[in-house]
Amino acid sequence: MTQQPKTTVFEYMSGLARELGAINLGQGFPEMEEPPELIAAAQRALAQRSNQYPPMRGLPDLRAAIRGYYARTQGLDLADESVVVTSGGTEALAASLFALVRPGDEVVLVQPLYDAYLPLVEWAGGTARFVSLTPPDWTFPLDALAAAIGPRTRGIVLNTPNNPVGTMLDRATLEAIGALCETHDLWVLCDEVWEGMVFDGTPHVSPLAIPALAGRSVKVGSAGKIFSMTGWKVGWAVAAPELAAQIAARHQFLTFTTATPLQWAVAEAFALPAAWHRDHRARYAKAKARLVAGLEAAGFAVLPASGTWFVTIDLAASGLPADDLAVSERLVREAGVASIPVSAFYAEAPERGYLRLCFTKPDAVLDEAIARLARFR
Ligand code: PMP
Repeated sequence: MTQQPKTTVFEYMSGLARELGAINLGQGFPEMEEPPELIAAAQRALAQRSNQYPPMRGLPDLRAAIRGYYARTQGLDLADESVVVTSGGTEALAASLFALVRPGDEVVLVQPLYDAYLPLVEWAGGTARFVSLTPPDWTFPLDALAAAIGPRTRGIVLNTPNNPVGTMLDRATLEAIGALCETHDLWVLCDEVWEGMVFDGTPHVSPLAIPALAGRSVKVGSAGKIFSMTGWKVGWAVAAPELAAQIAARHQFLTFTTATPLQWAVAEAFALPAAWHRDHRARYAKAKARLVAGLEAAGFAVLPASGTWFVTIDLAASGLPADDLAVSERLVREAGVASIPVSAFYAEAPERGYLRLCFTKPDAVLDEAIARLARFR
């Protein structure tokens, strides 16, 4: 048996926030208006479509809608057999890693990292090697990646835009990673669930758009993030057809299928025009700007981030001790605001100088959080 998962820092902080009546800017879920178009589509699907098992790989309409979305937004030309619909991005990560990792394989993970990657690699029988982005601009460590590749290395897990720090991988970096993958015959699993939540115009580039990587990469997406419906748990894995078939074979015995009416609703939602996505994003961009401006006016140093629902505070640059665990504990107890220490996203050699805050909250909640944080300083 590999190690049992511990209680996550997200549960710990949300629990403390509930117990103390603190504002929860820790866990990442939106408390904003939910898109009425999606709720109406789900209601219609429940009443008029099917509530029975859909095809194992997902409704053909949804798979076509996903391909259309990626053709329009990222210029990807995907085969129908390349898409596997899953129960959230989380299941897509699990099915992909169970398809890709064999016992004894080494997999390179990039810190700070989303908490699901390491247990999934280990449950597949793999061993993780870690490299870390370099703060405060979180540049990708190409040299460290090259040095971490050994004879047993089989693959790399990437995440763009990155949760927790919000930075993205550009084409040149992905091309350099592609050259390493060709030399060492490695696969790439790229977690792109935040691809639709980019606020500064940085183009999202998937490894599937890089010739050296297209045939050896899996792209993971989530309707929960694109449409702000995190509880729907509709996601997908996209890969070359042979690899997608391997992933589908794992999906078959993880969940088999994903809620039929919600698949119909997401398929319909993908027909919404680009202007809908622009307006949807603009509401989130406004919330982000409000939190950042408030924090900066209160003397906090906020790091630039392109995407996700999070911003990070640089503690030392804010005149606070670079001890994220201690500061987040004090913030929730003394200021009444829950945050997430970025060190929680490390398995080894953690950075201790950064705190993650979620901005997808109503204006009044953000204003009260800013006022409390300003008083704390
Ligand atoms: N990957 C990352 C980087 C995430 O932030 C999340 C959600 N917080 C997921 C995967 C999981 O996505 P889903 O909710 O669709 O399972």
